[in-house]
Amino acid sequence: MQRSESRHVPVLIVGGGPVGLALAGDLGWRGIRCELVEQTDGAITTPKMNEVNTRTMEFCRRWGIADQVLNCPFPPDWPLDVVFVTSLAGYELGRIRRPSRAAPIPQGHSRERLQACSQMWFDPILRDFAQSFPSVRLRYRTRLESFEDLGDRVSAELVDLDSGTRERVTADYLVACDGANSKVRDALGIGLTGQGLLGQPLSLFFRAPNLLNDCGKEPGTFFLGIDRDGLWANIRLVDPANAMWRIMAFNSGGRTPEAVDRDALVRRAVGRPIDVEWAGLSIWNRRSAVATHYGKGRVFLAGDAVHQLSPTGALGMNTGIGDAVDLGWKLAAMIQGWGGPELMASYDAERRPVGLRNVAMTTEFFLTQDQYAGGLTAIDEDSDDGRCLRSQLGERLVRDVGAMFRTLGLQLGYRYDESPICVADNTAAPPDEAGNYVPSARPGSRAPHIGLCDGRSMLDLFGRGFVLLSFGGDAPDSAALTAAATARGVPLERVAVQEADAACVYERRLALVRPDGHVAWRGDALPDDAGALIERVRGA
Ligand SMILES: Cc1cc2nc3c(=O)[nH]c(=O)nc-3n(C[C@H](O)[C@H](O)[C@H](O)COP(=O)(O)OP(=O)(O)OC[C@H]3O[C@@H](n4cnc5c(N)ncnc54)[C@H](O)[C@@H]3O)c2cc1C
Repeated sequence: MQRSESRHVPVLIVGGGPVGLALAGDLGWRGIRCELVEQTDGAITTPKMNEVNTRTMEFCRRWGIADQVLNCPFPPDWPLDVVFVTSLAGYELGRIRRPSRAAPIPQGHSRERLQACSQMWFDPILRDFAQSFPSVRLRYRTRLESFEDLGDRVSAELVDLDSGTRERVTADYLVACDGANSKVRDALGIGLTGQGLLGQPLSLFFRAPNLLNDCGKEPGTFFLGIDRDGLWANIRLVDPANAMWRIMAFNSGGRTPEAVDRDALVRRAVGRPIDVEWAGLSIWNRRSAVATHYGKGRVFLAGDAVHQLSPTGALGMNTGIGDAVDLGWKLAAMIQGWGGPELMASYDAERRPVGLRNVAMTTEFFLTQDQYAGGLTAIDEDSDDGRCLRSQLGERLVRDVGAMFRTLGLQLGYRYDESPICVADNTAAPPDEAGNYVPSARPGSRAPHIGLCDGRSMLDLFGRGFVLLSFGGDAPDSAALTAAATARGVPLERVAVQEADAACVYERRLALVRPDGHVAWRGDALPDDAGALIERVRGA
């Protein structure tokens, strides 16, 4: 089909889950025209995701929507505590204190922190953000039927599911954020590697007002149920204001949804029969897998389409939002004409290792949780044996299973070590540990947060173009880099940073930070060939 016969959009996004919406929003924020198609009407009745992590909150801050997440209907003063219980009405074995959303954020590695914000609130926040840009078009009840990479563009067939109208659209790039069962991934012939299916849990949603109070429990958000048969479920208070709960039983026992005894599950979770209002049930696949490639030609994949993580660690969507942010500025660079021919290939080189890392770490959390099998006969006995067992178990559970709630290293410490568009400086990499974030400005890393004298975070400087940070009063002249960037149309701003602690953390007198907030290069002086540096970081 000739180009003149089709409508053309620079970027066509398939899938309006959180990852597709985040990409549409990021592109809109960068002034790039894009169209997103989503086959459903976008309504979410049984949310999957509940935790928006620190890194995603930093992106929300950049986009100007962090306050909306902070003001979502989850009560600001409700503690996010994680509690190990024999049942909600039974014994409490251990508690991990996590502050409420309104509690002040201590001075540390970020101005943001993980927020409880269910997908039923977060997706609409992302949708409204994306829709606020005239360059973004969101089309619900519209499905991608087929596509073809024509070399210089992608041709796609879309169908309006209400009217049945079919339409052919061409795009410079197609990005599939079409979920774990991605048809686009299949059509590209891209497979998955990893352990694959880890289990088939079930999620049961219900409303039960005053449940915690009636059970005599202190407030908390995430309860892990362990009884005689072992650790069997988590019980999450999704929406305290509307008393909406979700029991996630780790094993659905091969049942169909119709065959699930919902009353028995609630009885086991609560420790006694109660009347509830049912709100939904789903059986889903817990997977551990990463795609062999993150795209092909002009078609790219992001989110669950390329990585499927066990929710232990609350990282699935958060990893996908990281994909969207990596893609956003690169697509913008290509559309605006300053991206080099190798820029898009760096997406796979940067994000696939992060997918592998995050899948490995969250699978490890799942396997740790899976070790607490049955044989705990004394666990609910009011006896010395029972007390002793509960005390020992509580300590172990908080230490071992609790590791999946101490993940700042996992959230902020991912880095693009093998990136072809970052300039390695051959310094030693800090340890990559889930629980421990070590700030580092080593190229490929997230440029660390420093509190600036004017009250802003260092991260507030990054976003639309490259930023050359210079530290101290005697920072070297950088005119050659500015000239090289200008000559190639690469947006670059120089910012002089006076804070002494910034110079210590960044360890060099100059650092070049990319539009996504990752360090591309650092040094004490510009390289002799400033043009070659700009060529490298723009993927030329
Ligand atoms: C119980 C549970 C709890 C979780 N908790 C968390 C958490 O706390 N934090 C976290 O980060 N992650 C969590 N996750 C993971 C998270 O929900 C997923 O990683 C996330 O939803 C993936 O987003 P996505 O946009 O990539 O895919 P999806 O949300 O699956 O969206 C894909 C979209 O593409 C659409 N689509 C597919 N094909 C087409 C087509 N041909 N045309 C048009 N549209 C199409 C689909 O309708 C769908 O809306 C959890 C998951 C589960 C199961």
